[in-house]
Amino acid sequence: MIIVAIDGLVGTGKSTIAQAVSKKLAWLYVSTGIFYRAVATLAAMHRVDVESNAALKAMLADTLPKVAWHFEQAAAVYYEQTDISTQLQQHSNQASIVSAHPAVRAALLPIQRQVVWSSGAPGAIVEGRDIGTIVFPQADLKIFITADQTLRAKRRSEQRQRDFQAVLAQIKERDTRDRTRPIAPTIKAADAITVDNSKLTTAQTVEHVLALIRNRQD
Ligand code: C5P
Repeated sequence: MIIVAIDGLVGTGKSTIAQAVSKKLAWLYVSTGIFYRAVATLAAMHRVDVESNAALKAMLADTLPKVAWHFEQAAAVYYEQTDISTQLQQHSNQASIVSAHPAVRAALLPIQRQVVWSSGAPGAIVEGRDIGTIVFPQADLKIFITADQTLRAKRRSEQRQRDFQAVLAQIKERDTRDRTRPIAPTIKAADAITVDNSKLTTAQTVEHVLALIRNRQD
């Protein structure tokens, strides 16, 4: 199985790119953000404090065996046979908080590897923050997507119709937090290829990534 790791900072368009590339190749697409969003959703359901590593650890010991992860087509997460997928988007902030806890990362790591290995797909595009460094350090190809900070803020403020300065301040804050957190910081793996899409459209970036994958396969 061929594994392509795609990492990058917030607002670089990495999810859109990863999804489009996986579709073109008919490969598995796994967005690892879903795992952290699911933990945040479970914490909300069980009224668990997202700031507490110990409380989250206890909750995960009880709840993770009852979670089913599906990535075959559109991603879906089931808890006790109930589809909780639609709730995941409502917990972005809490997902970012829970993702900083060592117990959460330790519990999710084997599951993230397992869903990829057990899929039976010929290849997988796995996207997140620490895929090339921690989840799949042996990935066949590692791509680190970047884009100019101001430009990311501009794109995002236009997409969401929000004030540019407010979005820029938020992106600066998240960049610093993501890059400097003690565990699994968003950093480029030494052997990753940087793709700066500041001057590229999404379609051009997708083509570029596909070319990198083809080159690696030759
Ligand atoms: O990518 P997405 O926005 O869905 O990720 C949700 C949160 O999960 C992010 O804010 C990030 O802090 C965290 N995350 C992570 N490691 C990953 C993927 C996501 O810490 N590999």
